[in-house]
Amino acid sequence: MIPGPFFYRVKTICNPAAMQRQAQRWKREGERVALVPTMGALHAGHVSLIPRARKAAGVNGIVVVSIYVNPTQFNVAKDLRSYPRPLAADKKLCYAEGVDVVFAPKSLYENDASTTINETVVSLGMEGESRQGHFRGVGTVVVKLFNLVLPTSAIFGEKDWQQASLIRRVTRDLNLPTRIIIGPTVREADGLACSSRNVFLNKSERQQAAALWQAIGLARAAVHNGNLRGLKRRLIHSIEQQPAAKVDYVEFFDEKMMRPVKPMKGARMALAVFIGKTRLIDNARL
Ligand code: AMP
Repeated sequence: MIPGPFFYRVKTICNPAAMQRQAQRWKREGERVALVPTMGALHAGHVSLIPRARKAAGVNGIVVVSIYVNPTQFNVAKDLRSYPRPLAADKKLCYAEGVDVVFAPKSLYENDASTTINETVVSLGMEGESRQGHFRGVGTVVVKLFNLVLPTSAIFGEKDWQQASLIRRVTRDLNLPTRIIIGPTVREADGLACSSRNVFLNKSERQQAAALWQAIGLARAAVHNGNLRGLKRRLIHSIEQQPAAKVDYVEFFDEKMMRPVKPMKGARMALAVFIGKTRLIDNARL
């Protein structure tokens, strides 16, 4: 018999209770489970995390990719509504990358849910300040995903450094038995970090979006040369030379505690920039 297309589909679990029952079976059987949490619209950045998950789980372990556009981390309703959701293509990609299970719940919250994760140090500045409530949503959904998938490891991207730091903290502070692994940022040829939001950029905006990575390059050069006077102002000025660009923030901070520091070698720089209506973020160590 020639196998039909069903044969080639990645196992997909949509029901949270069924996911947890499966995870409990894996636990009883002593399986190693590595989770890659995503909001879907998968791109090369997400895909780069899958081999790291495979390495953590081992050849016989289980790699789970979760795909869930988490409503509680969006502070702008339109942003949530318009977030891309190409689930069929995502599942195909997961199959091709050797993922064992896609966890794609429709909803993860009770209507009257009243419990959240509230981290109070690393989540205050930058994204936490610009997007009120964002990290409460992120922390809460990650703990929920961990409780449903029971992963031995979970893989996150450096692209969202502050988010990864928050998750490390929450995992440590709440004694969650999951090892957190962080994979490097994957970039397009001109340095723009891969992001699900890049599809919203028109051709001209897409070209202008390279300004984020260029600003990181300028900051690295300035630190190297000791030319630090007015650096933040100069970076903002150079980014906003692009007609569609409006800087939300440029920050230098210590990469563990997220406290603001002077630009220097070893510090990290993060920035958020609107290119037209699309808000992009990036960061790197200087
Ligand atoms: P998201 O779907 O945007 O919530 O991202 C899911 C995971 O993929 C997060 O851990 C992100 O940090 C990570 N990620 C997103 N973009 C990239 C990228 N360009 N390179 C590496 N990891 C990324």
